[in-house]
Amino acid sequence: MRSIVEKIKIAEILSVTALVAIFTFLEVNFRLFENIATVIMQNVPASRGVMTALAIGCWIGLFVYSLRRRSELSKQTKTQKQLEEDMELIQISDPITGLPNRKGFGFVLNEHLLNLEKEPFSLLAIGICNYRTISSVHSQEHARQAEIALSKKMADLTGPQDFLACSDRAEYYAIVKGNPDECAMCIDTMVETLSAFAHTNLDVCNTKLQLSVSFGVYRLEGDRKTIPHPTLDDVHQRLDFALYKARQGGHGTAVHFNPGMEKELHIRSIIEASMHDAIRENQIVPHFQPFVNLETSQIAGFEVLARWHHPVLGNIPPGDFIAIAEDTGNLSDLTLSILKQACRTARNWPPHLKMAINASPTDLGNASVVKAFVATLQEIGMNTSQIEVEITENAIIENADNIIQAISALKDNGISISIDDFGTGYSSLQNLRILQFDKIKIDQSFIKDMASNPDSRSIVKMMIGLSKSLNLPITAEGIETEQTSKLMLELGCTFGQGFLFAKAMPSEDIAGFMRNWEQKTASTAHEAENLINSLAG
Ligand code: C2E
Ligand code: CA
Ligand code: CA
Repeated sequence: MRSIVEKIKIAEILSVTALVAIFTFLEVNFRLFENIATVIMQNVPASRGVMTALAIGCWIGLFVYSLRRRSELSKQTKTQKQLEEDMELIQISDPITGLPNRKGFGFVLNEHLLNLEKEPFSLLAIGICNYRTISSVHSQEHARQAEIALSKKMADLTGPQDFLACSDRAEYYAIVKGNPDECAMCIDTMVETLSAFAHTNLDVCNTKLQLSVSFGVYRLEGDRKTIPHPTLDDVHQRLDFALYKARQGGHGTAVHFNPGMEKELHIRSIIEASMHDAIRENQIVPHFQPFVNLETSQIAGFEVLARWHHPVLGNIPPGDFIAIAEDTGNLSDLTLSILKQACRTARNWPPHLKMAINASPTDLGNASVVKAFVATLQEIGMNTSQIEVEITENAIIENADNIIQAISALKDNGISISIDDFGTGYSSLQNLRILQFDKIKIDQSFIKDMASNPDSRSIVKMMIGLSKSLNLPITAEGIETEQTSKLMLELGCTFGQGFLFAKAMPSEDIAGFMRNWEQKTASTAHEAENLINSLAG
């Protein structure tokens, strides 16, 4: 592509050449200049001297003009070049950390791939798992500063021959040079050091923050004869996939890409590609799992759980597609779509039946999503006092300004708040109390463990005691046996949810389930009454 200055230069040269050609043609064929000179000499007295002066003046003028134009043009060319270089730099470097960005990484990686046989290397991808949470819950500046702190630490750890880059999704890439053993040692050290660094309380914008980081590793084999070299796209995909798997393992997890992951990678790319249309076409639908009042055995409400039966892949677990929706920026559309569909089912429920729905911190950190959430309820005519929004404990960090704002906006509209998966996070119930929530749900890992593990039993007892002192109702998740249900009732738990009562069901099964449930509880009550009467008799 030619710059504008170059184009002007070419146009000038062409027009001057054309003029010279025209004048030469006229002079050769019609003696143009000779004729003009003759006419002037005949009509103007002393014209010879004037003509000479005029000709010299013209030449000097032309010379000065051309010199000035040249210097102007060279200045313009320099500015343009600088501009182009700056643009190039912006395009290949990350504005926050100053490191090369994903595009810059692509250029360098490509060079390395061409030279792989001579200079083997391994790749390390580092992702900040709680970046969005920090950005939603604190501020973008907190997230940016945390990123800068981590990138500095990374730069300290990489050798002079290695290469470090950063993507706009709070992910970093390192090209670590050396034979596989050297690389493995170096990468192990980086993983260990960075995990420890990220978990020290980083002082970011006067706030103490802990980062949660995971690592994807991809070792490239230099032997072209046995393994065909992957393309740049293949390498990016495999490294990203290893990081994606590592993110599922949480802080400090490192996952090495292996050939067995190729199929999974393919599945994920299908899910990513079909996510947007699936949401738009309501392929992802709400199912409803009941929760029961343990004292009265009455159904108290239903939790909405998203289900996706993919036309090619079959049923995809929500744990998988919700993470992908978040990664691909589709989560808020998914949340609102599930809410809309669920409300169409629940709007005619009797007032005592609640509808609990899950919301992620990404949803709640965005004021426009919270607004759209409330607007959807109003539009469908759903009674907001029947809605409980479930927020996982892990999503809530002390002084979480945005979450506090979202919670108060929801509560102002009559919506209740539950703390989900309680016991898995690091916050104490008293600390969380500033968030003014209405219910807690004990994580199912404690409930399932209770029968065999005395520690879990003590923790559950403590949580129930604490919630009672705060006058909060409590739900036990994951109740699978009568024994657990009875135990939870004895301990003073208000509600129970789990496969013992029912799995999540599609909307069309709810009426039948309720009828059966009422018959079952009525006959149990009748049997109990008969038993009492017979005992009394
Ligand atoms: P969650 O909110 O803790 O939901 C409870 C999960 O436990 C559900 O899994 C449910 O099917 C399962 N469960 C309930 N009772 C039992 C039991 O007795 N035994 C066992 N083994 N499991 C039980 P599911 O539907 O696979 O959902 C997993 C997670 O995905 C949910 O955990 C929630 O965090 C997330 N999720 C599901 N739907 C949505 C949604 O629409 N939006 C958001 N943001 N997250 C969702
Ligand atoms: Ca939940
Ligand atoms: Ca839960």
